[in-house]
Amino acid sequence: MKKIGITTTVPVEVLLAAGYQPIDLNNVLVSAPDPTRYVTIAERDGFPLNCCAWIKGLYGVCMDSDINDVLCVTNGDCSNTIILMEVLKLKGKNARPFAYPERPDKEQMDYVLEKMAATFGATLEAAEKVRRKVQSARDLALKLDELTWKDNKVSGWENNLWLISTSDFNGDYRKYSQELQGIINKSSQRQPYPAEEIRVGYIGVPSVYAKELYPYIEKHGARVVFNEVQRQFAMPDAGRSLAEQYTNYTYPYSINERIADIKTELKKRRIDGMIHYVQAFCHRGIGDIVMRSAIDVPMLTLEGNADFYLNGHVKTRIEAFLDMIERRKICPKVVK
Ligand code: SF4
Repeated sequence: MKKIGITTTVPVEVLLAAGYQPIDLNNVLVSAPDPTRYVTIAERDGFPLNCCAWIKGLYGVCMDSDINDVLCVTNGDCSNTIILMEVLKLKGKNARPFAYPERPDKEQMDYVLEKMAATFGATLEAAEKVRRKVQSARDLALKLDELTWKDNKVSGWENNLWLISTSDFNGDYRKYSQELQGIINKSSQRQPYPAEEIRVGYIGVPSVYAKELYPYIEKHGARVVFNEVQRQFAMPDAGRSLAEQYTNYTYPYSINERIADIKTELKKRRIDGMIHYVQAFCHRGIGDIVMRSAIDVPMLTLEGNADFYLNGHVKTRIEAFLDMIERRKICPKVVK
C-alpha cells in the first residue's frame, strides 16, 4: 500500500478503499524519540518562531520521511495547514487539500466524501465496506474508554494513546485491533483505581507533553478519565453511514458541538476538574474563554509550545489545581 500522510483525522475509510495506508503525521511526531528535531527542521527552512509546534513538527516529519503524498485538512482543523500545504508543494510533495463542511450537515458531508473518493480513485460503496471492517477496531477503542471511566482499570495515558491512534490505526487496523484486544484482556484483570482518586477531564488538542502529563497527574492521586478530542477520533457516534459518522464527529465544527459532547461526558464520568490544553500560537486558545463560561467544574488551562516535557512551572500549577480539587471534595462550602 502507498503511504499517505494526514494532518489530522480524515475519513480514512476512503483512503483505505483507494489502496492507501494513512499515516497520521502527528502520531509520528509525538512518538519520535526526539520530536524537537522535526521542529528544528522546519525552523531551519524558515518557519517562524511564533508558529505552532505541531505545524512545524508535521512539516519536519514530512521532509524527513519517504512519504510523498500528504492530505492536508484545510477546513475543520487549522488554518495554518493551508500555508503548510503550499510549502510542502514547493518542496516537491504531492500535498492535497481536504475540507470538512462548514457545519455538521449530512448532505454536505455526502458531497465532500463523494468528491474525496473521486479524487483518490475509489467509490463511496467501497469506502462503506471498509467502514464496516474498521468498525471493530473503533469498537475496541471505545471499549477501552469504558474500561477507563466506568471500570476504572485503564490509565489516562493508555486511554489517550489508543484513542488518538484511531486516526490512522497505527498504519494497520488489523494489527491495531489485535494489540488492543490484548491490552483490554490484560486490563480487565487489573484491580480498579482507588475510589477516592480525583477524576480529571482533558479537553482541547492533544498535548505536546502528553507522555509526561498523564503519569504526573496519576502520581498526585488523580487520573484522566475523559480525553475529549482523542475520543472523538474514535467516532463514538458512528451513525449508519460514513456521512453520518463524520457529521457526528464534533471536532471539525463549531465549539458548541464540542461543548454539548463535553457536558454530557462530564456528568456521566463524574469529573471533578477539567484540564484545558491549548497550544501556543493556536487560534483555538481563544476558545478557552467560551469553554470557561460553559463548563461548571474547576478548570486549569495549560499551554504548551515546543517543550515536549513538563517544566517546573506547569508541574506546580497541576499540583496546586489537584490540591484545590481535593480540598473542595472534602469541604465544598469552603473551597468553591
Ligand atoms: S494546535 Fe492549533 S495551530 Fe497548531 S496545528 Fe493544531 S489547530 Fe493548528
